[in-house]
Amino acid sequence: MHFQRLKLSGFKSFVEPAELRIEPGLTGVVGPNGCGKSNLLEALRWVMGEASARAMRGSGMDDVIFAGSGRRPPRAFAEVALTAKTDPDDQWGGELEVVRRIERGAGSAYRVNGRDVRAKDVGLIFADAATGAHSPALVSQGRIAAVIAAKPAERRMMLEEAAGIAGLHVRRRDAEQKLRATEANLGRLEDLMAGLD
Ligand code: ATP
Repeated sequence: MHFQRLKLSGFKSFVEPAELRIEPGLTGVVGPNGCGKSNLLEALRWVMGEASARAMRGSGMDDVIFAGSGRRPPRAFAEVALTAKTDPDDQWGGELEVVRRIERGAGSAYRVNGRDVRAKDVGLIFADAATGAHSPALVSQGRIAAVIAAKPAERRMMLEEAAGIAGLHVRRRDAEQKLRATEANLGRLEDLMAGLD
């Protein structure tokens, strides 16, 4: 999966629609302090499903919506769209577009190639591609120190994410839940059958 484009509207300081093209090779973002460089990285995390407002440097998720400035009123919503090139033979037909939108007081909604999906589905797409909101490839300020100080279990999670197997853990948990529900149903069925004898 190769990220191609990040489009932001009403997200943090990006009040007007803005687009970042991610060409093959190295992309550099330069600018004075406070111009929004970290906000761009946060937008990437957010569209991939970040659920923690603290990780977005806010107290609630609505804080990612443009809060207004001297001359501009606050926005009612924020939207971030990520376009990526994928395998031409995969279920996305070679191009994936994930959109996350948040409306003040109404929470987030996701779309993948135009279809409404759950946050969990988006998480799985990126986990399978060995990336995501918590990918160790996204190195924000203070992160290096956090990696050095990480506990062995946290380091293991980073390695598992890098190896692309984080999504398998989610699927295993889902499968275990289904298995338990099926076992409970079978138990009830046996009780019913015993009642019919
Ligand atoms: P530095 O180089 O100092 O790390 P930076 O370029 O990474 O800075 P950011 O931290 O991305 O800058 O951007 C901070 C700016 O974003 C601040 O001016 C802050 O006021 C603005 N900002 C953050 N959230 C919002 C919001 N919800 N609405 C409007 N502006 C916001």
